[in-house]
Amino acid sequence: MHEVDLLVIGAGINGAGIARDASGRGLKVLLCEQHDLAAHTSSASSKLIHGGLRYLEQGEFGLVRKALGEREVVRRQAPFLVRPLCFVLPWQPHLRPRWMLRLGLWLYDHLGRRGPAFPASRAVDLHDDPLGALLSPQLQHAFS
Ligand SMILES: Cc1cc2nc3c(=O)[nH]c(=O)nc-3n(C[C@H](O)[C@H](O)[C@H](O)COP(=O)(O)OP(=O)(O)OC[C@H]3O[C@@H](n4cnc5c(N)ncnc54)[C@H](O)[C@@H]3O)c2cc1C
Repeated sequence: MHEVDLLVIGAGINGAGIARDASGRGLKVLLCEQHDLAAHTSSASSKLIHGGLRYLEQGEFGLVRKALGEREVVRRQAPFLVRPLCFVLPWQPHLRPRWMLRLGLWLYDHLGRRGPAFPASRAVDLHDDPLGALLSPQLQHAFS
């Protein structure tokens, strides 16, 4: 009989991550999966290592800080898999006020340890900025 320190049931991203972390700390780990590695929800993920921007609106600052910290850990551990990706968020008058989005993104920039790989968010004038080239000319304001 083999003795283990930790039995992890389910090899989605959480089980696989826990097993990897624990074995990296020297524990004897057994990972059991009924089907295949990442066969279920984890196979459907968009693969974004995000920090949970939308949770700021619910006042979940601690959660966002932790998620941003983890983003940095994953980026350092797997630079061959994780790379920064610029998103352009166009703004339109029926959305949240622009000042609110700017404030949320500023908080997001400052809550976590943002390494040099992640440039700060910024307001973009789509009529002047190359980022606007592929978007409808009716859109003028955005954030990256
Ligand atoms: C469309 C979509 C897009 C998403 N995009 C993102 C994203 O961009 N970024 C992000 O961070 N998150 C994203 N998510 C969320 C993320 O995918 C999930 O939070 C994550 O995959 C959950 O992983 P898990 O390991 O908890 O669960 P799962 O991946 O479901 O793994 C659980 C595993 O446990 C196994 N299991 C269960 N019971 C047993 C048992 N009794 N014995 C053996 N094995 C068992 C199952 O077979 C399964 O393989 C997205 C989710 C969806 C649906």
